[in-house]
Amino acid sequence: MQYYSTNKISPKVDFKEATIRGQAPDKGLYFPEQIPFLSKTLLASLKQTSKADIAFEVIRPYVGGTIPDADLHEICAHTVNFEFPLVQVSDNISSLELFHGPTLAFKDVGARFMSRCLGYFSRDNKKKITVLVATSGDTGSAVANGFLGVEGVEVIILYPSGKVSKIQEQQLTTLGQNIKALEVQGTFDDCQKMVKQAFTDIELNEKLFLTSANSINVARWLPQQFYYFYALQQWAGAEPPVISVPSGNFGNICAGLLAAVSGLPVKHFVAACNSNDVFTRYLESGLFETMEAVATISNAMDVGNPSNFVRILELFGNDYQKIKSFISSYRVNDITTAETIQGVFKEFNYTLDPHGAVGYNALEKYGSATLTMTGACPKGLFLETAHPLKFSDVVEKAIGQPVDIPAQLQELLKLKKQSVVVKPEYDELKSYLMG
Ligand SMILES: *Cc1c(COP(=O)(O)O)cnc(C)c1O
Repeated sequence: MQYYSTNKISPKVDFKEATIRGQAPDKGLYFPEQIPFLSKTLLASLKQTSKADIAFEVIRPYVGGTIPDADLHEICAHTVNFEFPLVQVSDNISSLELFHGPTLAFKDVGARFMSRCLGYFSRDNKKKITVLVATSGDTGSAVANGFLGVEGVEVIILYPSGKVSKIQEQQLTTLGQNIKALEVQGTFDDCQKMVKQAFTDIELNEKLFLTSANSINVARWLPQQFYYFYALQQWAGAEPPVISVPSGNFGNICAGLLAAVSGLPVKHFVAACNSNDVFTRYLESGLFETMEAVATISNAMDVGNPSNFVRILELFGNDYQKIKSFISSYRVNDITTAETIQGVFKEFNYTLDPHGAVGYNALEKYGSATLTMTGACPKGLFLETAHPLKFSDVVEKAIGQPVDIPAQLQELLKLKKQSVVVKPEYDELKSYLMG
């Protein structure tokens, strides 16, 4: 399997090269040259197949022999060694809980897979690998956790000061060892811009072996397909589900679309956005116009220029009508998000986090629109991407009662924060790295 750059200038590379580089030298994103077809046997036996075996089968063609089968299976087994339960919330809506990993958010899977792959690839590398990651909250902690103690790899995390939750900040800044946190006095988009610039800086790249751990890295992006298989594995509906995905950088939903194009039966996708609605407006108008990110209570989705949009274009050959036939999109503002948390708690005794609430509400909106058009409400599920505890301030206000903080998080809150404060300027990052 070869990967080409979405900018079509850089040469093709294999999975190993794409994982180590992160981004292509021409600033494009790597994209697989062929989309593998899923074996009929795997689809037919999904319910009896173990999570690790599914992961292995799904990812194997993408890894294309750069990791031997036995090692790859071990990496897969380690990556998914926790639960992904599908929980029924209302008559028509279920929640695929993706928050049972070590940092209580869905990015654990991608981060665990990528860190193990990089660890494997760095075995024969002379230079130490530096992983540079911009985070709006959850990526950073998932990546930090995935890499903690992995030999030959140093991780530098950039996060927007004051724009991540207390728990997220503690998760980013208290690990120590090979993990360093830079606290940027700006937005997530600033962090992302700084990281992108670092990758194109020739002088810097001569000194350091830089790689990215953002959702643009194929080793983080591709394993997100697993969620959709685990959803189908537990799905009891007569028809395939509609799947609503709370979206920011669109890595997660793009992985789901990839799985569907490979043959996984999904009825339709809903891209659930908060007020950062670039993609919703694209589906409405056909125009993709980036914006300055605005802060919301579902802050891991505060992205004004979703980096995986180009991969969606690539996947569907730039065919706007085809994209519209696979995906619908709804925007959900903060007021509706909070009302959804409150309403679902009251009516169904289920506690949503703000991101899941955006997913839930967008799925409801899609359901009502379909009901009006066809007279039937489709059954579906949304991805619950974070544990409500990670956003307890918002959730408690909405449901009017405290969310218990488990012991492991109480311990985390006591640890000492260690970060380096920098201005949102590339030179600050560079001088730190050249240090
Ligand atoms: C990152 C994140 C999202 C958005 O996922 P993308 O792949 O960037 O679209 C949604 N919810 C939570 C909790 C996240 O951490």
